[in-house]
Amino acid sequence: GIERPVNFIRNIINDDLANHLHDRVCTRFPPEPNGYLHIGHAKSICLNFGLAEDYQGKCNLRFDDTNPAKEDVEYVESIKKDVRWLGFHWEGEPCYSSNYFEKFYQYAVELINKGLAYVCFLNAEETREYRGTLKEPGKNSPYRDTSPQENLALFEKMRAGGFKEGECVLRAKIDMASSFMCMRDPTLYRVRFEHHHQTGDEWCIYPMYDFAHCISDGIEGVTHSLCTLEFQDNRRIYDWLLDNLDDFSRPDRPHQYEFSRLNLEYTVMSKRKLHQLVSDKLVEGWDDPRMPTISGMRRRGYTPASVRDFAERIGISKVDSMTEMGILEAAVRDDLNKVAPRTMAVMDPIKVVIENYPEGEVEVIQAPIHPQNEAMGKREIFFSRELYIDRADFMEIAPNGKYQRLAINKEVRLRNAYIIKGERFETDVDGNFTTIYCSYDPETLGKNPADGRKVKGVIHFVEATKALPAEFRVYDRLFTVPNPGKAEDFESVLNPDSLIVKNGFVEPGMAEAPVEQAYQCEREGYFCRDNKINDRLVFNRTVALRDTWSQ
Ligand code: ATP
Ligand code: MG
Ligand code: MG
Repeated sequence: GIERPVNFIRNIINDDLANHLHDRVCTRFPPEPNGYLHIGHAKSICLNFGLAEDYQGKCNLRFDDTNPAKEDVEYVESIKKDVRWLGFHWEGEPCYSSNYFEKFYQYAVELINKGLAYVCFLNAEETREYRGTLKEPGKNSPYRDTSPQENLALFEKMRAGGFKEGECVLRAKIDMASSFMCMRDPTLYRVRFEHHHQTGDEWCIYPMYDFAHCISDGIEGVTHSLCTLEFQDNRRIYDWLLDNLDDFSRPDRPHQYEFSRLNLEYTVMSKRKLHQLVSDKLVEGWDDPRMPTISGMRRRGYTPASVRDFAERIGISKVDSMTEMGILEAAVRDDLNKVAPRTMAVMDPIKVVIENYPEGEVEVIQAPIHPQNEAMGKREIFFSRELYIDRADFMEIAPNGKYQRLAINKEVRLRNAYIIKGERFETDVDGNFTTIYCSYDPETLGKNPADGRKVKGVIHFVEATKALPAEFRVYDRLFTVPNPGKAEDFESVLNPDSLIVKNGFVEPGMAEAPVEQAYQCEREGYFCRDNKINDRLVFNRTVALRDTWSQ
């Protein structure tokens, strides 16, 4: 019962299961807790947890926490929250690579005993020289032939704090002439006198990614270890290490497969750059709604369903490419169009006075919550002598026959209510409209005029006495160029208009709008109430009603 489309990874899994190599699929999502998750991580989460769901297997959430300097529990907590929010579950407690530090150490000892690892005292510059180039084979380190006993003693001393940072490393003894540079005796362990967020000061040597990753996969019984294409060459180390360790050198050991990472236009996804945006205060924080982070997208009004649907739409391949922002926005628009309750909000208000409407009277109108889905029920909206409409919906003189908004001597329908006609207006000293005086046709609530005259235009409004003041935050792309990561100084291509704040009014029912709940503000876009600011009504625009990217 696989519902998601087939891709090359599913083909591999299907073959492995058919050949009885494994009887249960186990994947993992292995973030390093050194930042907040972004939409690229969401691709990996949907892939790994999605496979586990579809094959009734298991996906581990594993914190790949072998590099204590940049890691923090704040990130651990945010990652757990984001994975859960996307709708995925891991069995039991999350895994931490740092839980395996003692095991890693023992596996390193096994390699040393087999003559497959050695403690090397070359400094960084010498190491580079000895490594050679793509054209030139490297040279063996003078420490390469140290005996296992001696290496064992040196490695113990490394662990005991007997060497300074940078003084020595543990290296695998592979092949200094390999055409894969990463196979030229890669570093397995280095000395770091760093406090670790999980293990405290217990360790002063820390394993490298290449060493820790494959062994963690082995310990957890991962079957298919999926990573992005930059790790293609590293697959040789992955295989070499597992094949040389007794616990793992079996046909059903984990295997690594690579897929292309997500690159999204008009944003950056490198954690270093995201950190920089936050620390340079160019955005409000990791959860700024303009950020490509999961927390930012949640605050902006993206739904878990829309992010998962986006991951389906982009698919899985081995070809690196740039994904258009329009694909992400189409996914959220399609979801919200189905599920978002409708409401009316006026973001740039001007007052309308209906002169033939009785003074002091406020009428209650039942309006559909979703015009295509009656089951969602009705909401109460109000109508009276004083209303707000949007400034963009009025002109003194209709410019042409196609104009379908309000003008003097022109009729328009107020959404869910009556037909009104512009009669006269007032302006301030600068000539800006302040009040528009209108008449209304009392026979047109929910029906067309009896005399058969046609009124095509519909504009939205909010009744003035019950309207609630609200702030609207309208977001645009964070950068002005499609590939800001390529810019020499990516901060120089930030979009100065990525946030525009407007002040207007919402229907009174919006006082109870839950945070993050999406609404369609009719004719204006999809909005949700901000999840941080609670001393006033603030709504973030998730996305406009139509694609504005391809214009
Ligand atoms: P950075 O290089 O910016 O620090 P990272 O890839 O090192 O990011 P991790 O926390 O190590 O970040 O990533 C966890 C998992 O998410 C990895 O398996 C990685 O392959 C995957 N991942 C990260 N970025 C993307 C992306 N843009 N597209 C798809 N998968 C990604
Ligand atoms: Mg990483
Ligand atoms: Mg990284």
